[in-house]
Amino acid sequence: MNNVPVDPLLKEIAACFAKQGKQAYLVGGAVRDLLLGKKPADWDLASDAKPEDLMSMFRHVIPTGIKHGTVTVLYKGISVEVTAFRSESGYTDGRRPDRVEYVSSIEEDLSRRDFTMNALAAELPSGRLVDPFGGAADIKNKTIRCVGRPADRFSEDGLRPMRALRFASQLGFSVEAETLDAVPGALGITAKISPERIRDEFEKIVASGRPSAALLLMEKTGLLELLFPDLAQCRPVEQKGCHRYDVLGHSILACDFAARKGYSQTVRLAALLHDLGKKATLRIDPDGTRTFYQHEKESVRLARNILRQYRYPNAAIDAVAHLIGEHMFHYTEDWGDAAVRRFIVRAGEENLGELFRLRFADAFGTAGLDPAADFLLPLINRVEDVLSQNRAFSLKDLAVSGKDLIASGIKPGKHMGIILNELLEAVLDDPALNTREKLLEIAGNINKRY
Ligand code: ATP
Ligand code: MG
Repeated sequence: MNNVPVDPLLKEIAACFAKQGKQAYLVGGAVRDLLLGKKPADWDLASDAKPEDLMSMFRHVIPTGIKHGTVTVLYKGISVEVTAFRSESGYTDGRRPDRVEYVSSIEEDLSRRDFTMNALAAELPSGRLVDPFGGAADIKNKTIRCVGRPADRFSEDGLRPMRALRFASQLGFSVEAETLDAVPGALGITAKISPERIRDEFEKIVASGRPSAALLLMEKTGLLELLFPDLAQCRPVEQKGCHRYDVLGHSILACDFAARKGYSQTVRLAALLHDLGKKATLRIDPDGTRTFYQHEKESVRLARNILRQYRYPNAAIDAVAHLIGEHMFHYTEDWGDAAVRRFIVRAGEENLGELFRLRFADAFGTAGLDPAADFLLPLINRVEDVLSQNRAFSLKDLAVSGKDLIASGIKPGKHMGIILNELLEAVLDDPALNTREKLLEIAGNINKRY
């Protein structure tokens, strides 16, 4: 493994550097991916060229991070981040280096990087590996190992422990013992990291093929208790009954299933957080039966708090919270069409797919076995049946509008909304009522109450 294959466009870019007497190295995740035989997601280059040199060397250059010596070069349809060789020093806050200094060699630049697998470079255009810390061997052995002493490296930047575990989930690597052992000692430094940076790593864990790898290591090292205490405290909550696992074990399995099936990030997050409320709602009956009455409401509250704490966008929080809040439906064959319609209205027609996927994940987490593919089929069939009747499911489907009500003599105001909702309720019970004539009559009756 002494050379990596180099993309022809990168060779052309390297030629532009060489013409100016500058060096160019491929660095970071791209080298790692090439050694793993994967297609790199993006290209990062390191060079002795400074941003101002690059501005004149290429026609399309975006000053993305001039302060840190980084620009983005757009070249024949690809985009390449170029950073001048630099070192970092003086981490007084455990978050960001106090100073970024230019250095003259690729070796010095590599020594500031976090893990050996990330501290590799490939010289361009040759593809010759520069590997001062044994990163290629660690990649071969699927090992995540700090460059230098782990405790020192974690004290410089408290995000690195999260990054180590995130890579374990993304790459399926194991974290080398000394590196893992240094995580608990760095918790105080990790506690100072901004919520946005934590969220970005957490998002990558949940988006990976196997979130459980990082989540279990987070638990083992104390990171879970530090960053997601409400989740960590689900471990001692036993469920018994039809459940094989405690609440944390169940939640992590559900999230893993969602990841394995390629479900959306919303479903994965909902799967991980859907039972947070069980701790507070656990009741043990005299006969030993455990109940978690209305736990989904408490789960919604706690999940919202967590996602807000980590600065998730409101729309993302609402989507996850909605799925969690609706996850406890129990379909039986005696549901009438009205009950099916109410279910559709509560869940929202557009969310039904996500809600069913959450239930598949939940069912997997309960038994640790793939649920029968058709276990939701009776409900899904009923939903399709009811939907195909093309009846009213929201206010806009009603045969009358607010304007119609006003035209019929009802005064505009707050109770107008109440009347419209009562009309929708009536139509869900009996779709035949959804005519202009009948609804105006019912509206008139309701109006008399006000
Ligand atoms: P991916 O882009 O797939 O998340 P990556 O390895 O490219 O993985 P980036 O976050 O893009 O990760 O960082 C690019 C490179 O910068 C890393 O490979 C590593 O060498 C270095 N790096 C990033 N963050 C840190 C950090 N907190 N401490 C030290 N080095 C870092
Ligand atoms: Mg990258």
